[in-house]
Amino acid sequence: MQNGAVIDFELTDEQRLIRETARDFADKEIFPRVRDNDRNERFDTELVSKLADIGFLGAIVPEEYGGRGVDYRTYGLIVEEVGRADSAMRTVVSVQTSLVCSSIVRWGNEEQKQQWLPKLCTGEALGCFGLTEPGTGSDAANQQTRAKKTDAGWVINGAKQWISMGNYAKVALVFAQTDPEKQHRGIACFLVPTDSDGFSSQAIHGKLGLKGSDTAELFLDDVEVPDSALMAEVGDGFKIAMSALDSGRFSVASGCVGICQGCVNASVEYSKERKQFDRPIASFQLVQDMIARMVVKTEAARLLCWRAAWLKDTGQPNTTETSIAKLYATEAAVECANLGVQVHGGSGYVDDHPVERYLRDARVTTLYEGTSQIQKLIIGRAATGINAMV
Ligand SMILES: Cc1cc2nc3c(=O)[nH]c(=O)nc-3n(C[C@H](O)[C@H](O)[C@H](O)COP(=O)(O)OP(=O)(O)OC[C@H]3O[C@@H](n4cnc5c(N)ncnc54)[C@H](O)[C@@H]3O)c2cc1C
Repeated sequence: MQNGAVIDFELTDEQRLIRETARDFADKEIFPRVRDNDRNERFDTELVSKLADIGFLGAIVPEEYGGRGVDYRTYGLIVEEVGRADSAMRTVVSVQTSLVCSSIVRWGNEEQKQQWLPKLCTGEALGCFGLTEPGTGSDAANQQTRAKKTDAGWVINGAKQWISMGNYAKVALVFAQTDPEKQHRGIACFLVPTDSDGFSSQAIHGKLGLKGSDTAELFLDDVEVPDSALMAEVGDGFKIAMSALDSGRFSVASGCVGICQGCVNASVEYSKERKQFDRPIASFQLVQDMIARMVVKTEAARLLCWRAAWLKDTGQPNTTETSIAKLYATEAAVECANLGVQVHGGSGYVDDHPVERYLRDARVTTLYEGTSQIQKLIIGRAATGINAMV
């Protein structure tokens, strides 16, 4: 961060309005459906359409391609409110906007932008991001999926694991190795229509949380794509993945601020209503200790997200600051949700109150888009200049 630079914490009138709209949408449209979707492991496509209608899929995409053209601060406000209501829907916003759309905006050519962005912003098409594989997680450069050049284009073979929206997406960003000897410099990224011959998916069930989110395995068996499906140059794939994660980690972190805030809201309300020893439990110092810890973590996480947004919006490097926000906000969400359950006592252990779901849903956020350990290694590398990742 530049010395002497000033971050303005004041929201503009437009940002306030969008935040109010997002808050209202979350309370009126998402909250009433979330428990049922969670219980039934239902990916709520009707709700996804509503998210698209209100402009929350691809909000950072320039208006000429069907987006809202908002800045990252505003995008973060939207994601926080959606995340407060439901992490499964927040995952839709994050994947569609940050991992898929922002990659096409930054790396796609004009034809690819015209082909996919308007459909992704209106929700006519969902996209998914296929980086992780059965044997390749944190070591994302070690792609086993192979892309082979042919006269007509490319043939792709391989499998992808844990892919959000993989069963519903119409387009998949598929990362594949073109020349193993080149290691990460051989990786390419393809925009693969999921109705291509040889492309199939299978749902993953039995997740701890995020039950209303679709998670899939993808299989690519001699999938043929034309040269026009290649995004940027052969060898740019790893850079594309990392730049997507710069946006995606910010989105996950902002969603976690929403979880933290939701835990504060639910715990304050419950603790003022619930009486023990003839007094509201909010009047006990040990209960206030739990609430105060949640409040501090929520505020700190939000400010770290706003700093990351400010760096993005002012065009400054922000990979480390985004990792700091992601690490802190995701761990804070797990801790706040755990404290929230504690404040609710036995009532916190069932899904009549949102804290039970917050706890299960928060858990994945310290795993996906780079585990907490990977964020620490990124932060440690920036601090020391030494790469401890390998
Ligand atoms: C619900 C869900 C949705 C997901 N959605 C997507 C998606 O849409 N697209 C996609 O591509 N992926 C997705 N993922 C995958 C996710 O990004 C990976 O799970 C994550 O990157 C971790 O990889 P892994 O699970 O293989 O764990 P591993 O890499 O095997 O890690 C296991 C443990 O080892 C630690 N570890 C690994 N390497 C190091 C190291 N160098 N130093 C210290 N510790 C280390 C990790 O921190 C972790 O604690 C999703 C995952 C889940 C669970």
